[in-house]
Amino acid sequence: MPTPRADLSGGVDVAGILRATGALLEGHFLLTSGRHSPQYFEKFRVLQRPQETAALCSLIAHAFRDAGAQAVAGPTLGGVIISYEVARLLGVRAVYAEPGDEKTRVFRRDFETVHPGERVLVVDDILTTGGSVNQVIAAVRRAGGQVIGVGLLVDRTDGAIDFGVPCFACERRSVPSYAPDACPQCAAGLPLIKPGGGVNLPTS
Ligand SMILES: [Zn+2]
Repeated sequence: MPTPRADLSGGVDVAGILRATGALLEGHFLLTSGRHSPQYFEKFRVLQRPQETAALCSLIAHAFRDAGAQAVAGPTLGGVIISYEVARLLGVRAVYAEPGDEKTRVFRRDFETVHPGERVLVVDDILTTGGSVNQVIAAVRRAGGQVIGVGLLVDRTDGAIDFGVPCFACERRSVPSYAPDACPQCAAGLPLIKPGGGVNLPTS
């Protein structure tokens, strides 16, 4: 029987945290994936606040408290913070997946990475295309580990991506994104914002 949402919340006001930290922005944004979107989660507005980040991570840890994770793996950059805190709460190791090349993540520190047969919870901050989560899943499996679930701060796809393992997100919502040549805001001539870079890019 699925655990009721009320039990998972643990009194954590997810929407209130996202609102109070100003993490949810409205505009015309260039996503890391190259797609454009009218909404953007500025994850570092949450991640710069340890108390709020810890509160959200407690939901992920709670969701997987009985899953038998032996390590928590997250991708640079935001996923490192989340894997650290979720692993701390679960009392297991955190491992950090760093860029290999453009299409892969790797565990670079050979002293304590994923062990063969180890049960690993994969975490990340914002799920948009699943690219970085899939890279971490692949890195865990290359090391012989077993992925037992995926935990996220925000799932922008509203559950549309199936990783083949249980997935929990503190917040799920459907946020549209468009290829540049199909973007209605580009068609309307609105300036494109590259989040985090402090740079407004031309729309053409
Ligand atoms: Zn656009």
